[in-house]
Parts: sequence; structure tokens; C-alpha cells
Amino acid sequence: MDFSEAQKRVIELRAVIKENNEAYYVFDAPKITDFEYDELYRELKRIEEEFPLLITPDSPTQKVGDKVIDGFTEIKHKYRLYSLDNSNNYDDLKKWYERVQKENNNNSELELVVELKIDGLSCALSYENGILKMAATRGNGVVGENITENIKAVKSIPQKLSKPVNLEVRGEVYMPVSSFEKLNEENIENGLKEFANPRNAAAGSLRQLDASITAKRDLHFFAYTAISDDKELFKTHKEALNLLSELGFDVNPNHKLVRGINSVIELCAYWENERFNLDYATDGMVIKINSLSLQNELGYTSRAPKWATAFKFPPEEVWTRLLGIELSVGKTGAVTPVALLEPVQLAGSTVKRASLHNFDEIERLQINIGNEVLIKKAAEIIPKVIRKRENENLGVYEAPKYCPSCGAELVKFEGEVGLYCTNSLNCPAQQKGRIEYWASKEAMDIDGVGESIVEKLWDKNLIRDFADLYKLKLEDFMQIDLIKEKSADNLYSAIQKSKTPTMTRFLTALSIKHIGKETADLVANEFPTLDAVKNAQIDDLMQINGIGEKAAKSLIEYFNNENNKLILSKLEEYGVKPQGSAVAKISDIFNGKTFVITGTLSQPRNVFEEKIKQLGGKTSSSVSKKTSYVLAGDNPGSKFDKASDLGVIILSERDFILLSEGKYNE
Ligand code: NAD
Repeated sequence: MDFSEAQKRVIELRAVIKENNEAYYVFDAPKITDFEYDELYRELKRIEEEFPLLITPDSPTQKVGDKVIDGFTEIKHKYRLYSLDNSNNYDDLKKWYERVQKENNNNSELELVVELKIDGLSCALSYENGILKMAATRGNGVVGENITENIKAVKSIPQKLSKPVNLEVRGEVYMPVSSFEKLNEENIENGLKEFANPRNAAAGSLRQLDASITAKRDLHFFAYTAISDDKELFKTHKEALNLLSELGFDVNPNHKLVRGINSVIELCAYWENERFNLDYATDGMVIKINSLSLQNELGYTSRAPKWATAFKFPPEEVWTRLLGIELSVGKTGAVTPVALLEPVQLAGSTVKRASLHNFDEIERLQINIGNEVLIKKAAEIIPKVIRKRENENLGVYEAPKYCPSCGAELVKFEGEVGLYCTNSLNCPAQQKGRIEYWASKEAMDIDGVGESIVEKLWDKNLIRDFADLYKLKLEDFMQIDLIKEKSADNLYSAIQKSKTPTMTRFLTALSIKHIGKETADLVANEFPTLDAVKNAQIDDLMQINGIGEKAAKSLIEYFNNENNKLILSKLEEYGVKPQGSAVAKISDIFNGKTFVITGTLSQPRNVFEEKIKQLGGKTSSSVSKKTSYVLAGDNPGSKFDKASDLGVIILSERDFILLSEGKYNE
């Protein structure tokens, strides 16, 4: 690239970056992903490094953030706020570390604090004699927006500190992912605009001219910097973080003091995957020199400190093309659309499929085959489609009218979003789905019998329902291509071994609509034999805590259906007999109590889950006001924080044992 080409490209890049800065910082509504933005920014930085004559003071590489929103008063910051330099690879991290070592004239390993980079909105809070006086956004680093009234609505920001200190506290206001999803659901229902991500939701909620709107939003704050004129208050960054905790701030518990860059890289790699288990968004890690005197020596560029850097995770969101929509028919007849995508790299893996949930969702997204769509990786294994490119109108994919497997008409049941194939008995996809599910880990746990074996047995006309598995002979398995004698033997004995399941497994495996493993367990605890279940009346079932009318009706209908009766009698004939309830009820000490388990315990989680069930309790995966107890092991994570916020009782493993023995005093 020669100088004039560089000049032309720099002008183009600055214009695009400026436009996107405004969308992001001023309107909290980005048009492109952070990853795309960072690519443009890095390209500009590269060209400016090659042609330093092109650097101007107003280049986005030389300044922080953007202008103040109309309507807010401006505040001049006492101490300037900066952005952070960032990289997305370990080599650049190492180069940063080597530069710092060199400037420090010291080859020994440096002390660093590694923190999560919280994806929210940074704020500066000034305290005088321990009282909150002023709060401001970062703005352009010199001048920010006065958000003092709004900040009072943020949980976890103390208005009075535990000590009468003069201090500036900086941190990130964020919205938990669960609250962000809820807010977006409400916005959709009320015909309002959705927020693109939790960061924009937090920023949009905080920067409301009407602070009463802010108060309705679930905002939190993690403090990560303290600045004081009293140089004796803390001498390292870690001491500052400890002080912030003592003063009453939430400091993110996942920070770590380490020595040397290798430990930093290990932590970056660890959080790259683990971040999806947090209930707040994080877009990377921040690495800071621990010693404040060394920080002062190193100083700042016009835009960022030299004593800190950020490592950005691979993107969680990426644009790709929707190549097709696959219709899959589940074991209950539900037809679900799955997006088939142009393969793309997302959060470290190649993605070809994404979830579309149901046809109402396709209607809501207004998408069709050929659209460019934004996909997002979340805690789920399969990513989901978030939205399509604005103004790319290709119509909306039409929901099918007939079952893609058997051609039967599809129907929608009242109160449900899904489309169903009603040809329960003869639809091959449903039948195969039920056989696969019968053999699955969650149900009868028959080793080796998965999708491909079921497909082969089906194609050879050897099975038509799950009861048929038990009439198969050893020779039948040998008929299937590629199956050798040894594996035929294994499959045959695995099936034979599954003839005496627990009542819970048996009920789960029948694929009764609305009866999953949890519900099956509740039924099995009350009705320990198959005869008892068959004779249960709707009122008896609804008496069980956790069983509603839908599930009770569905169970009764199942056992009254002639086809199902036939399968059950076939099972009986082949010697399949459930063995009473999964766990004998020892006592009702946990009756009506809901537990959430988090962190690492001395034994696998399912041991504790079984124990809770044995004693009449239930487990849930998320903490809410209805949670009775949180059982917390080591490194508990966000569920612990949420429980503390909601005032839910947190039990250690020892407390839990005492409680289960009736010896714990709340
Ligand atoms: P940044 O977000 O990359 O990094 C600096 C910020 O990190 C700090 O100001 C602070 O708010 C935050 N932070 C979070 N946790 C922290 C911690 N533990 N310690 C210190 N700081 C922490 O930089 P920026 O200048 O705020 O914004 C630039 C970034 O914003 C871009 O890299 C891009 O990802 C995004 N952006 C996106 C668009 C878009 O259109 N999508 C537009 C503009 C900016």
C-alpha cells in the first residue's frame, strides 16, 4: 500500500468507525458486532503505525469514547478516564509483557492482576468522607455525563461506605444476562425495540433522562479501580481491590494475582470457555500491573494505560448466511426448524447449525433462506439465531403444513407454540425418536443403542417400536451391516440387562408428553408400581407437589390409549418390568424445599441431587426468590452472588449434611 492508498483507506475507516461509535456510545444500538468493529479499528491502527504522518489528534485511535448525550449535564473528571489497548492473541499479550519488562529494566517475572473484562458501561463514582457525591460516565475520558441520580438505582453501589474515605471508584455497571433476556422479552411483548446485547441494555438503562426508568431495570456494579490522593491507603492494585470489598463494593470474585505471563495465558484460556457459565457478559480479560508505583512509572498513551492491556475473547456473535432450514420431527411429534448455515467460526469452533426454536420465532425474526443472520453462542451447545441484517427483505419462511417424515397434516395445540404431527403411531420419525429416547442415557440407558443402530434396525424392518428391541435375537444384530459378532453380543446383552429398570426410568422412557425425568420421578415416588400408576386418578396425581393438570391428564390419556396398552403388554410379555420407585423415600425433611447447587463439592453433583430427592426436596438450575437453599462448594460463581443478593440461605457442604440430619439451625 502506498501513501495515497493509505490516506484514502484511513479516511474511509475513520468515517465508518465514527458512524459506529455514535450508534454504540450515543444511541446504545450498534449496527455491527464488536468483532467487526475491532477488525476495522485494528486495520486503522496498523495503517497509522506504518504511516505515522497520517495520525491526527481526532483519529479514533487517539481518543476515548464519544460525545455526551443531549439532555445530560457534563462533568469534568477529576482524574482522566482511559480505554484499554487490546489484542486477540497470546503473542501480542507476550509482546506487551516483554515491553513492560524492558521499560522496567527488569527481567524477573512481574506481579499482575488478571480480571474478567465485564461488558457493561464504565462509571466513575466520587466519595467524600465515605458519602457518594457524584457519578459520571466515561464520556470522552475528560468530560462525562452526570448520572448521579440514575446511579442510585443501581444495586450494589453503596451510597455510604463503611469508612469515611475520600475516594474515586471506577467500575462497570452491567445487567445480568438473565435480566437482559427478560427485559428483551418484555420489550418484544410491548412492541418496543430489543437491545442488541447486555452491554447496550445496561448502557441504555443507565443513561435514561428519567431516572425512574433506570430504577425499574436490574442493574449491578463491579468495582475494579480505586483512586485516592492518600498514597498510604493502598500500594498495589490487589490492595485497592481488597479495600473496595471492605468498603462495601462488589468486586468480581474471579480475579487473580499471578506472577508472569504464562499464568495469564492459562487464565485467559480457562475463561474463554467458562465465561458461558456466568450470568453476566464478559468480552475478555484485563491484565494489570499490580504495583502502583510501577503503574505510575509506565504511564499512559493518549488513549490507554501502558500498565494494562485487554485480551479479547473470540466473538460470541457472528454473521453468516442461512442456507436452509431443516425440519426435524421429535418423539412427541413436535416439528422443529433448525437453521443450516454457511460454516463459520464462532467462539473457537466451526458452526453449521443453529437453533430456531419454532415457527413463531421465524415469524418474529422475519427471516428466510438466503438471509444473512447474526448467530450467538450462549451457554447452550447449539448457537441461536439472533436477528437478520436490517433491510434485507427476502420474505418469511413459511411454516410447513405436512409432516416432513410421514406427510400427515400438522396441527397447533391450544396454548402451545409448536407444530405437531398427529400421526403418532405410524410416523417413522416419531417412532424412531421414541426408540432412540427409550435407549438413551436419561431413560433406559442401553449402551450402544443410538441413532445409527436404531436407523439400521428400522431399515431392516426388525423394529417398529421400543418394545420390539426385546424380541431381537443375537442373529438379528449380525444382520446389520458392519456389526461384528462381539458388538452384536454387546448390544444384545445391553438390551437384556435393561429389563428391570427403576420406575422413574421406565416412566421417563415411555416418552409421555409433559412427563420428563423430574415429573416421572415425582410420580414414581407416590406410585411405586406400574399397576398403581395405571390406576392413578387425576386428583391423586394433581395432589403431588410439582405435577400440574397438563402432566396429570397426559399420563392418564397415555395409559388409556389402546396402542399404548398394546406396547405395554408387549413389554410385559418380553419380561420388561419396572422395579418400584427409583429411591425409597427416607423422610420428608426437605419436602417443598428447592435447592440450587453451585461450585465444586467433595463428590459429584448427582450424589447431592439424589440425596435431596430422597429427602423429598427438589433441585433447580437457577436461583430465584423461590429457592430455599443454595448449596455452595468451592469457586461458586454467579449463583452464589445472586443468592446473596436475594437473601437466599447459602449452605456449605457441612451445613447441608447437618440440615439433612435435622441438626442445622438457620
Ligand atoms: P473496551 O471496552 O475494549 O475496554 C475498555 C473498557 O473496559 C474500560 O473503559 C472499562 O469500561 C471496561 N472494563 C471492563 N472490565 C474492566 C476491568 N476489570 N478493568 C478495567 N476496565 C474494565 O474499550 P472502549 O474504549 O470502552 O470501547 C471500545 C470497544 O467497544 C471496542 O473494542 C468494541 O468492542 C466496542 N465498540 C463496538 C462498537 C460497535 O459498533 N459494535 C462501536 C464502538 C465500540
